[in-house]
Amino acid sequence: MSEPIKVAVVGAAGRMGREVVKLVLQDEELQLVAAVNRTHAGSDAGLLVGLPEAGIAIVEDVEQALLDSRPDVMVDFTGPRFAYAHTALAIKHGVRPVIGTTGFTSEQIDELDKQCREQHIGGLIAPNFSIGVILMMRFAAQAAKYYPHLEIIEYHGDQKLDAPSGTAIKTAELIAEQRQELRQGNPEEEELLEGSRGGYYQGFRIHSVRLPGVFAQQEVIFGGFGESLKIRQDSYERASYMPGVKIGIQKVMEQPGLVYGFEHYID
Ligand code: NAD
Repeated sequence: MSEPIKVAVVGAAGRMGREVVKLVLQDEELQLVAAVNRTHAGSDAGLLVGLPEAGIAIVEDVEQALLDSRPDVMVDFTGPRFAYAHTALAIKHGVRPVIGTTGFTSEQIDELDKQCREQHIGGLIAPNFSIGVILMMRFAAQAAKYYPHLEIIEYHGDQKLDAPSGTAIKTAELIAEQRQELRQGNPEEEELLEGSRGGYYQGFRIHSVRLPGVFAQQEVIFGGFGESLKIRQDSYERASYMPGVKIGIQKVMEQPGLVYGFEHYID
């Protein structure tokens, strides 16, 4: 077997970071060489995630951790205010970034792509690592060619601030690329209660359900002649993103330049 890929996890004590630490510690093709977090300095990364002691203590300084541990890949799940600086630091030190943190601007992505190419290393920024979500969106767009009447229903926890979700908007955009604009339903339809028919997008509707206990789910319902087709994806927990994170870690080892969007790695 070839050498394991050396991974530094930044944001290691966060909700997503802990899942990444678990992934890396439990996968023999990966090796945890550093765990960075603003809090929990000195804690053992393994014990922190409920696994045996890993011998890797959480440290606070990203650049120092990269210099000391010389990883092949840096995975970052921190916050939008820090991720750009962390990504630029990783590239500067020849470490391939795999970034799950959201909120990059297109100018920042272009700049980081340039830096990756100058250093001849790969990189990935992926706002969504779920393979199931990417396939659900792709299947929905394909179905819209044949079934132009559809509605999207997305379900998230009750504390989510934005509606509809980013995934619902992205799904709607992909569908719109395959479907002529078509105003569905009865032209004389009237809402007796405002909002009952959901958000309007190119003639179809998007509904956002917000309930405690829900993590992230979405269905796209297509209505045809005497039939309906439902394409649905349910995420129950953050671990659902980890198979995608592993693919990301492996793919950035292969080719130089920054890829934006995990869908580019899914055939
Ligand atoms: P979180 O708040 O639970 O974790 C963030 C962690 O990063 C915390 O432990 C915090 O102490 C640490 N941190 C913050 N700034 C830091 C810094 N400068 N240096 C070192 N550590 C720092 O958040 P979360 O729920 O794990 O989400 C993190 C990010 O991942 C968010 O941007 C979220 O939108 C994104 N996210 C992406 C995906 C995906 O599939 N790409 C999935 C879920 C969440």
